[in-house]
Amino acid sequence: MNMGKLTGKKAIVTGASRGIGLAIATELAREGADVAILSTSVKEDLAAKLSSELGVQVKSYACDVADSATVQAVFKQIIADMGTVDILVNNAGITRDGLLMRMKDEDFDAVIATNLRSVFLCTRAVARTMMGNRSGHIVNVSSINALRGQAGQSNYAAAKAGVIGLTRTNAMELAARGITVNAVAPGFIDTDMTAKLGAEIREKYASQIPLGRLGQPEDVAKLVAFLASDGAKYITGQIIGVDGGLNA
Ligand code: NAD
Repeated sequence: MNMGKLTGKKAIVTGASRGIGLAIATELAREGADVAILSTSVKEDLAAKLSSELGVQVKSYACDVADSATVQAVFKQIIADMGTVDILVNNAGITRDGLLMRMKDEDFDAVIATNLRSVFLCTRAVARTMMGNRSGHIVNVSSINALRGQAGQSNYAAAKAGVIGLTRTNAMELAARGITVNAVAPGFIDTDMTAKLGAEIREKYASQIPLGRLGQPEDVAKLVAFLASDGAKYITGQIIGVDGGLNA
C-alpha cells in the first residue's frame, strides 16, 4: 500500500491533462491521494495510466471551470464518487496575450473567467464539504506576473493578481474551520503554455533566472503537494514563489 504523506486523502486538480496540472496530479497520487483530474475533455487513458502506475484511484472528469452550472454539477458528482474532498488545486489557466491597445474585450473576459472566476467557483463548490470536515487544503496557482506585471498580459496579470486577493480572503474566511488556502506563484515553467512563446524569448528569460534554467512542472508540484499536506497545516494565506530566484 502507498504510504505517502497524502495516503487516504481525496484531491481535485483542475487543468490536469498536461503541464503543471498533470505534474501536480501525479505528485499527489504518488503521495497516496486519490485524485479527480479535471480538464476540458475526458482523459480516460491518462487516468487509467496514473491509477495503475501509482496504485491509487485516479478518475478523469470533463469540466469547463469557467462555467458556474458545470462546476456545480461536476463537483457534486466528484464529491459523491470520492465520498469527500480534502484537497483542491485550482490550476486551470489560459493566456490570450496582447498589448493594451490591441487587446479585444473577449480576450480580457476569457482570461478573467478561466483564471480567476474559476477559482471562486471551484473553491465555493468544495467549501461546504471541507467546512463540515473541519479540515481541508486549497492551493491556487497564481503567477510571478501578478506581482511584477508583464507587457502584453493585462488580462492575465490582473486575473492572477485577483487569485492572490481571493487566496488571502478565503484563507481568512475558512481558517476557523481548519481549512488552509495558499497560492503558488510560478516563474517561467517549461510547458505548452510557454513553448508557444518561441525559442528566442525562452532563452532570454532563462538568462535572467538566477538558478539559470526554466522551471519544470515537477518543481511546482513538489511545493503544491507540501501545501496540500498536514505538514503545512499552520501555513495559510501565503503566496509562495517557485521561480528560480527571479523574483527574489
Ligand atoms: P497548459 O496550457 O500546459 O495547461 C493548462 C491546463 O488547463 C490544460 O490542462 C487545459 O486543458 C486546462 N484548461 C484550460 N482552460 C480550461 C477550462 N476552461 N476548464 C478546465 N480546464 C482548462 O499550462 P501550464 O503552463 O501547465 O499552466 C498551468 C497553470 O500554471 C495555469 O494557471 C498558468 O497560468 C499557471 N502558470 C504557468 C506558468 C508557466 O510558466 N507555464 C507560470 C506561472 C503560472
